[in-house]
Parts: sequence; structure tokens; C-alpha cells
Amino acid sequence: MVNADNLLKWYDAQAREMPWRVPPAQAKAGKRPDPYHIWLSEVMLQQTTVAAVHKYFLAFTTRWPDVHALARAKDSAVMGEWAGLGYYARARNLLKCARIVSKNMDGRFPDTEDALRTLPGIGPYTAAAIAAIAFQRQATVVDANVERVMARIHAICDPLPDCKQTLRDLAEALTPRHRAGDYAQAVMDLGATLCGKKPACDACPWQHGCVAFSNGTAAELPKKRAKPAKPHRQGIAYFACRADGAILLETRPQKGLLGGMLCLPCSAWQAEAPIENPPLKATWQALNTPVNHVFTHFHLALTVHVTNVAQNAKPLRGEFVTRVDPDALPSVMRKIYQLGISAIHDSKGRN
Ligand code: SF4
Repeated sequence: MVNADNLLKWYDAQAREMPWRVPPAQAKAGKRPDPYHIWLSEVMLQQTTVAAVHKYFLAFTTRWPDVHALARAKDSAVMGEWAGLGYYARARNLLKCARIVSKNMDGRFPDTEDALRTLPGIGPYTAAAIAAIAFQRQATVVDANVERVMARIHAICDPLPDCKQTLRDLAEALTPRHRAGDYAQAVMDLGATLCGKKPACDACPWQHGCVAFSNGTAAELPKKRAKPAKPHRQGIAYFACRADGAILLETRPQKGLLGGMLCLPCSAWQAEAPIENPPLKATWQALNTPVNHVFTHFHLALTVHVTNVAQNAKPLRGEFVTRVDPDALPSVMRKIYQLGISAIHDSKGRN
């Protein structure tokens, strides 16, 4: 039968361990998760897998153990710690939110969906997850995992995103008053483990009552409307290495893609042929191998221009940074860095 009790029984035995979670036995004994941990993990989990978030969550909570500590952090330190996790607007909103909660709310996160949604970076999904998991509110959490489970147990054949509201209504109808946090995590766990791309229905607590299982259509659901192809953009990335090994970097504008991140200087990224915009007067060499990167909304191809410059070189923008940590750069910048540094080493080897 499809009901919350069946799923919670399964969750009691099969809950995935995560560093921000309270295991079900301890939750039943009254232990509550730290709202700071739940908020931080839920923001990190937006568009990102649990496996990828794990080490970032541990790094953040080790460095900034509570919301006051995070609120006091420098923007550049937080952006650097976030590097590689992508969707950098999340990190900017994370800091804004931490500062509001620390300064205006005495470090306490609001405990209702409506109040949580007034904070930067907290949309409907994240608000519901925090309200349910951190505060035991009867809030319905609907992510792609939950949508998949709902589409299957009710055999909804309309494609996503057209059927989103239907799936939300069905998820709401199943959400119990009791053990709200455990239930939210249980239904997400079911979608992430047994009810994945290849459903493992034999082990599923909701097999009896799952319409798609009895129809034999589980693996075909949910259906998805074909997405339009992503457009292509191109640009030039500049890799300038000073005589002492320092690399020219610049902070991107706060608004826009990779906003506020320390990056290698670039021309504009556009559909048309790129217009040169070097950050330094020098003799630049264009590398033959482009850097390709896929963002959520477009494909990017960057030609990398490299140069070696003297110690007294004066950039037109940005600044030279010694001991650049490539892991603190966004993924696309790391690719440029690796290509650029190899080209510089090759050129030095030839001289
Ligand atoms: Fe998913 Fe299969 Fe369980 Fe249905 S029975 S909810 S398809 S795992």
C-alpha cells in the first residue's frame, strides 16, 4: 500500500547517512537537526548531487561552524570555498542570508515556509525542505526524485514539466503530519535509490499500490517534453604569466555568470565571433586547443591566449596573483588554467 507509514518503516531501516542528517532512531528519540546544517546542505544540494555536496558541507561547517561565523566570513573566502560546486549565485545568496539571520534574527532561522522564503536564496523547494526537516512542519518537498516517484505510483503519463502541479498535488496528499522531516527525507531517498532510472521495484515498500509497477511502465515514467537545443557561445580567455610565476586574475562583475568569482580575464561570451579584449598590452599567442564547457543554458567554446610578461608588467584590469590554487577556481576557469600553465611550461622548456 502507498502510505507514509510503509515508507517510514522502510526509511527506519534504509535511511542514507549524510553528515547533516539525524538518523531516524535518534530523530524518534527527539534529537533535532541543526537548522544551520539543514539550510546549508539544502542550498548546496540545489542542482547538485549528494556525493558532490558531501566534502563541501564538511569544509564549510569545519571552517564556519555556525551562522554567525559564516556571516562574519569574507566574501572572497566563501566564494573560494564554494569553487567547483557551480551555480555561484547560490554562494552569494548564502552569505546574504547568513548575514540577515545572524544580524536580524539572532542567528535563528525562521521555522515556517513563508518566512523562510523571504530570505535570499531560499525558494519554495528549499523552504519546504528546511521547514520539514529542521522544524518538523508538515511541508511537502518536491524535487526531481519525488516527481519521479509520484509519476510512477499514480502512472501519470503527461510529460514534465506540464504535469508538475499534478505531481505536487499528489505529493501533498501523501505528506503526513507526524515525522514530517523523516518523511521528506524518506521519499527523496526512495527516488534516489530504488525508484531511480532503473527502478528496483522488488525491494520497494510502495510496490503494492504502485500503478506503474502493475502496468509494467515504471521505467518509462515520468515522460519529459523534448528540450530545445542549447545555444553555443564563444569567447577568448587570457592567460598571462609574470616572470615570478604570478598569474593575472580578475574578479567578475557581481551580477551575471560566475559573478564575484576570481577568474582568468575573458572577452565577452557571445554567439558571434569574439571581440578581443586583452587585459594587458603584450604579445599574445592563441592556443590551438579550445576550452569547451557546458553551462545550464549554453555551450561555451573559449580560445585561450597566453603570454609571458616581465615582472613590471602593468595590467589594464585585474591583478597578478602568486600561488594560484586551481581548485579554488570555477570549473571552466580550472580548464583554462591547466591549458594555459602547460603552454607556459612548454614555451619555457623550448627557450
Ligand atoms: Fe518506484 Fe517501483 Fe516502487 Fe513503483 S514499485 S515506487 S516504480 S520503485
